[in-house]
This record gives sequence, C-alpha cells and structure tokens, in this order.
Amino acid sequence: MTIDALGKRFGAGPLVLDDINLSIEAGQFVCLLGASGCGKSTLLNIIAGLEKPTEGAVTVASGKAAVMFQDAALFPWLTAGRNVELALKLRGVPRKERRTEALELLDLVNLADAADKRPHELSGGMRQRVALARSLAQDRKVLLMDEPFAALDAITRDLLHEELERVWRQTGRTIVFVTHNVREAARLGQRILLMSSRPGRIVNEWTIADTGSRRIESPEVARLGDEI
Ligand code: ATP
Ligand code: MG
Repeated sequence: MTIDALGKRFGAGPLVLDDINLSIEAGQFVCLLGASGCGKSTLLNIIAGLEKPTEGAVTVASGKAAVMFQDAALFPWLTAGRNVELALKLRGVPRKERRTEALELLDLVNLADAADKRPHELSGGMRQRVALARSLAQDRKVLLMDEPFAALDAITRDLLHEELERVWRQTGRTIVFVTHNVREAARLGQRILLMSSRPGRIVNEWTIADTGSRRIESPEVARLGDEI
C-alpha cells in the first residue's frame, strides 16, 4: 500500500492531514499512534475509501480494505453466525457454503460456541471477536482497525491481542491498527508510526524487534508513557 503526499481538509476548515507519505509492505502489522484529534481515523477512513483526500492519493495494491471500528456495530437482530454470513453473502459466497465458512471464521477467533447467540448475549470482547470474524469474512488483504479494543478491560484486551496476533500470523493480512495506547502499539506492531496534530503528520517511526517479548526497545517510545 502506498500513500503519496496525502492532504485532507473538511470543507473550508484547517488542514487535518498534511503531506502524509507512507509505504506499507504486504503482510506488515503497522500501528498508528497519536493523540486524540490528530487525524488517525481520518487517515484510516481515507485508506478505506470512506472519505476522499483533498490532495494526494492512496493505492491499495490488493484493491479494497476491510475496516473494524471501536464499536462492533453488529446487527442486533442477527446471531453472531448470521452477522458473519451476511458479510459472506455481500462477498458473493453461495448460500450453502456460508454457514460452514462462518463457523470456520468464528472458530478462528475462538467463538465457535457462540454462533447462535445474539449480540446482546455476548460480552464486549466477544462482540469484538465477531466483528473481527466479520471483517475477515470480507476476504480483503488489508485490515484497518480503528481502536478496536479501546472499550475493553485490560484482561480482555490482552486476550484479544493474543488472538489478533495469531489471526494475523495465520492469515497473512496487512494490518493498520490505530491506537493512542503506546503499550498496545508496541505489543502488536512491527512498525509504529507516530502522528502529530494540527495538522496531522507522521513525525516519527520505530521498528519493534520481533523478539516474542515485544519490549519497547526505543527510549523515545518509552518516554511517551503509556497513553498518548
Ligand atoms: P481520536 O483519537 O479522538 O479518535 P483521531 O486522531 O481519530 O482522534 P480524527 O477523528 O481523524 O482524529 O479527527 C481529526 C480532526 O479532523 C479533528 O480536528 C476533527 O474535528 C476533524 N474532523 C474529523 N472528521 C470531520 C468531519 N467529518 N468534518 C469536519 N471535521 C472533521
Ligand atoms: Mg479516531
């Protein structure tokens, strides 16, 4: 994926994003870190094609990207299984294959048992797993995640970090993960991009050594503290 000289303003407002240039390799796990209001969601929405850039361009080599937000936004009247099946239907998967494939995807996020439950019967962490399964059902090479675990407690979040890392290794997706939690970024990302605000620019970046422990090696990152 490449992003060239991207700029964004809303209407006659100030520049929200300024001269963003990025190249993201296929299969890379990138975390986009920055303070509230710096333009992370705007950048993600432009990559997703939900928002138009004012200047510059985004090229996603594999076509479109799937997106997952902080709120799982599941259809409340559909079971977990049916929520995933709907994404498969939109992708054009034939009816008789949908159930099996939906169960496989729910199994991938350790939720096979919950296929027949409706969202209100699931915990927040389980709902985010269904949302992840549904994003994977779109079968896009690129997965964009906008603070998907921000509303969860620390223990559930840790569990989902493990799940996501496993899913990423199993499926080879390119992931762009937005967060303002420094530890989360260092836990998950192979590469961390730091954004500044007014206007949003990428001002620094670090590569995190894939040691398994995923400690923050950079003193600069450590100095940022836990939350931005
Ligand atoms: P947060 O961490 O709080 O989610 P963010 O980094 O995702 O913040 P954005 O939502 O991208 O920030 O917003 C960046 C800036 O763009 C903000 O100043 C916001 O007010 C402005 N903005 C975002 N969407 C719109 C819109 N549709 N119309 C006008 N201004 C907008
Ligand atoms: Mg945001």
